[in-house]
Amino acid sequence: VLGMLNIRFKEKGDELRAHCMSGTHEDNTPSWFINKNSGMFQCFSCGYRGNLHTLIKELTGQTLYEYLQIDNPDEYMFKAMLTKKKKRIRKIPTKLKITGDILDPHSDKQVMEYLRNRNIDDQFINDFHIKYCNFIVINGTKFRNRILIPIIVDGKILSYDGRTFTDDKPKVLYPKGTSLGTLFNIDNLNFDKELILVEGIMDMVKIYTHITKNVTTCFGINLSNKQIDLLENCQHLLVIPDNDKAGKQFISLLDKHMNYEYKIGFLESKDPGEASVEELKNTIQNAKLSIDYIIEKSGLFQSEEIKWRIK
Ligand SMILES: [Zn+2]
Repeated sequence: VLGMLNIRFKEKGDELRAHCMSGTHEDNTPSWFINKNSGMFQCFSCGYRGNLHTLIKELTGQTLYEYLQIDNPDEYMFKAMLTKKKKRIRKIPTKLKITGDILDPHSDKQVMEYLRNRNIDDQFINDFHIKYCNFIVINGTKFRNRILIPIIVDGKILSYDGRTFTDDKPKVLYPKGTSLGTLFNIDNLNFDKELILVEGIMDMVKIYTHITKNVTTCFGINLSNKQIDLLENCQHLLVIPDNDKAGKQFISLLDKHMNYEYKIGFLESKDPGEASVEELKNTIQNAKLSIDYIIEKSGLFQSEEIKWRIK
């Protein structure tokens, strides 16, 4: 983005430093800082701040799409808007009413086979308190032969992700009236570090086991307002969508609601569960800000031209 706007900058860790573009003061010692992960900027001299979309609008008088002469933004998957407003809904978690036995997966061969086939090791089972049932009722919802993964917030079980290990329908079941307005494993996530977001719990397994513990899921692609709020608290978000139509919807939904920039890592494989650890590592390494994908895809600015630096 800065290259496109002919802004020279210095790079130091996650921060880029440049001469302030507010036009309100001389800025001989660059005091304007742009965060590489969130795209948010701030001048420590005059307080000029905003995000990359507001910057493009202010410097060019045009939106990103106008500036790049893109008249078919729908094809770009990212529907970046200038101002995004949303309603906030708060839900009070319901208490769970459970009848029946919750069992240890190690006591059933078929359950263990299911888990091992999905590369789930004992640490993953223990860390996420994974159990199973033959038959239980939670809040009136019947669970038959399902792996039970508790969704915990502030140490309390808010809901259960109940997935069949006998190919039953639906694949995943949640108890009636329970709230999924959270991120999986939220009690242990670090919002100050790079946080990786995937579509489902099974997509987390290889990343959690081999790459980083700071990985989460929002239980499918339909984000709630509460989940958007939580994701916006994370300034180093890296999303790895499934490589399918739903994955594209997921990104366009995120882009519509998030005020911060975030990185996206696109997979060659179908989803993070099928990708090798090597592919996942490369995908995380090569992830880019969504806004940079738009500029790149427009073809108007080649990466060689946009390597501006303060000498
Ligand atoms: Zn300034």
